[in-house]
Amino acid sequence: MRKKIVAGNWKMNCTLPEGKKLASEIIHMVQDEVNNDTDVILIPPFIHLTGIQNLICSSKNIFLGAQNCHQNQNGAFTGEISAGMLVSCGATHVILGHSERREYFGETDELLAEKVSFALENQLIPIFCCGEKLEVREAGKHEDLVSMQVEKALFGLSEDQISKVVIAYEPVWAIGTGKTASAEQAQEMHAFIRKQIAAKYSQETADSISILYGGSVKPENAKEIFSQSDVDGGLIGGASLKSRDFTNIVKSFD
Ligand code: PEP
Repeated sequence: MRKKIVAGNWKMNCTLPEGKKLASEIIHMVQDEVNNDTDVILIPPFIHLTGIQNLICSSKNIFLGAQNCHQNQNGAFTGEISAGMLVSCGATHVILGHSERREYFGETDELLAEKVSFALENQLIPIFCCGEKLEVREAGKHEDLVSMQVEKALFGLSEDQISKVVIAYEPVWAIGTGKTASAEQAQEMHAFIRKQIAAKYSQETADSISILYGGSVKPENAKEIFSQSDVDGGLIGGASLKSRDFTNIVKSFD
């Protein structure tokens, strides 16, 4: 059985008091209302990690993630944060390759391959994001592009290593735009990614990897998207900043 996961990427939002309030509300609602065993991952800005970890404590199925990490353990990299530092703050997951990092910070698949491997060495679970821009989809090249991203960033890993990775398929045209991929489009791409992993590694490993959908997921569309056989949950941006909406997305698996 693959893990069901709903991860909330807060991006560069919330002061510390706002973040603590949001996290407390989510933790309580999830504990009181959710009747499934979905893993919930809260992914605040770096400087809130310790404060949010203190609230999560040992809450069942609620985990802490970071939005990025550097590919070196330490050294003269002013302004950067290493995987080991994240683990020391209680993080268990890290988003790598979000389209905003690719677009605004020039992150390439080659760099992401280093980051993924380094995160794994530090026992941090990468949530590796891939996905095409609108023009690529309109040109019918979305499978080629996503397959290249997955191959370049992940296929240097051993089978044991890749089995620990979470993949998030996030069509760039659906992120923060209110445009969601249809459930069929999401299923088609998730099945495609899984097939690619099966061809490179094994069907067993491909079947064990959680593939999340990201792109304007809301309480209104989560159930339909999550009901697809190859969709194992969501990476949620905007709706993760509203405790009620985020909890209702988690409840979509009930
Ligand atoms: C994201 O940033 O990963 C994301 C999916 O954002 P949104 O849900 O706002 O589209």
